[in-house]
Amino acid sequence: MEESLAKNKYPAYKIKAALAAPHTSLAAKFCTPEIWEKYKDTKSTGPAKWTLARAINSGISHPESFVGCHAGDRESYDDFKDFFYPVIEAYHKGFSMEKGSDLQGTASERMDPTKITVDLSASAQAKIVSTRIRVARNLSMFPLNPGGTRASREQIATLMSKVYKGLKAGAPQLAGDFFLHTTMTDEQRQALIDGHQLFRGKDRMQAASGYHEHWPHGRGVFHNPDKTFVNWVNEGDHLRIISMQNGGDVKAVFARLSEGAAAIEKGVRKETGVAEGDEVFMMHPKFGAVTCCPSNIGTGMRGSVHILVPKLIASIGFDTIDKLARERNCQARGSSGEHSAVVDRIDISNWRRIGFPEYELVQDMINCANFLAAEEDKAPELKVACAPCLPFMALFGSSKKANPIAQANAKQAAAEKAAAAQAQAAAAKKTALAKAKQKDDEASAFAKASAEKALLTDALPAEEGASAPADASE
Ligand code: ADP
Ligand code: MG
Repeated sequence: MEESLAKNKYPAYKIKAALAAPHTSLAAKFCTPEIWEKYKDTKSTGPAKWTLARAINSGISHPESFVGCHAGDRESYDDFKDFFYPVIEAYHKGFSMEKGSDLQGTASERMDPTKITVDLSASAQAKIVSTRIRVARNLSMFPLNPGGTRASREQIATLMSKVYKGLKAGAPQLAGDFFLHTTMTDEQRQALIDGHQLFRGKDRMQAASGYHEHWPHGRGVFHNPDKTFVNWVNEGDHLRIISMQNGGDVKAVFARLSEGAAAIEKGVRKETGVAEGDEVFMMHPKFGAVTCCPSNIGTGMRGSVHILVPKLIASIGFDTIDKLARERNCQARGSSGEHSAVVDRIDISNWRRIGFPEYELVQDMINCANFLAAEEDKAPELKVACAPCLPFMALFGSSKKANPIAQANAKQAAAEKAAAAQAQAAAAKKTALAKAKQKDDEASAFAKASAEKALLTDALPAEEGASAPADASE
């Protein structure tokens, strides 16, 4: 924990520095001295006994964070409301906690593909590698994971394994296998990484709020044989219910998500005996689904497409693409998750999560993908002189007849393989260093020095995961 917060003291110096920086996390902005005084000795009334110090540790330890605070249990949001409500309103622009959300019907009813009134253009369809829509959900009978224990995480995994077994009878098209991080084989792990289905618990911002405590216990990934219906268990939120597939059939992905979320809710209700009408998933009367990070509350839904826009990346760059996306209520991410490197494709998803029906958020994404595809078509051809662009020239210049998505995927796979090899080499060096450290006699000094040098020069970029899949805080 950050030094002052560990002593339950106001981190005045850190907050002052954060306020002076061009970008200020919402945690730093809204944890004023008055708010601190008001809440510093408060404990949440839920099972986590959450404190303000723990809530803001992430943002204070990592001033670069955007939100910088997390809840430890559902009660945290109301118990620290003079802190959390302004954070929520600042993140979800236009949303008022006083007014609350006036969405009609249940989430599953709103996840109705027939309500989507726009379609992807032919140009966007041709550029979309894959589509993924997920909702974040937390089970009402457990604390949120930042405030959870090893036992609560393991109980969740045990419960979910029963729910997944139950799918075989209740929803066979969604049924599949549940792989626990503690027992999965190296081959299973690699297959999940290759398919973008694994999470790895290495996000420093999440770590600062206790997301990764007791890793890897109680963590797991469920998926059907086609890997089109996937669940993350205890990544951060208890559940990430995910529907994904190659290509741009957004409506099919959305329909499966709706069906899957309903089947999971039904299964948990059955296994836990929660009565009809009582909540299986944590819901807040004002905003809807409760999640660990204030950024995800509400619908908890993020719908994304991975879209190939190499010319646009080269001509206007990622930040401008993100800006254009934000103007359309969307955001851009690297294709290996939030904060990951950008090569030839971009992850475009809805930015808003709250107060708008799920089908409308999917429409935002479709409209933005159509816009970016049209911009890509207008963007200047890549020039041979630009060395980093050479791979894209090969893609879109000389070999126009070949399938660009297949080619881009092959290139991406090669890059990921190289990154994995680099990470493995770095791990081997680290082991060598650890061994060398064990011998503290004179003879080992040289080995230590060289291993240390190698670690500094080679291992750091790989460990930071410059191009490896990155988990994300939101
Ligand atoms: P979130 O936390 O919103 O679920 P992240 O940005 O952390 O999403 O990404 C999680 C994983 O999902 C990453 O491995 C990412 O590559 C993968 N992913 C996200 N969108 C897509 C998509 N449209 N197609 C394929 N994989 C995707
Ligand atoms: Mg994430």
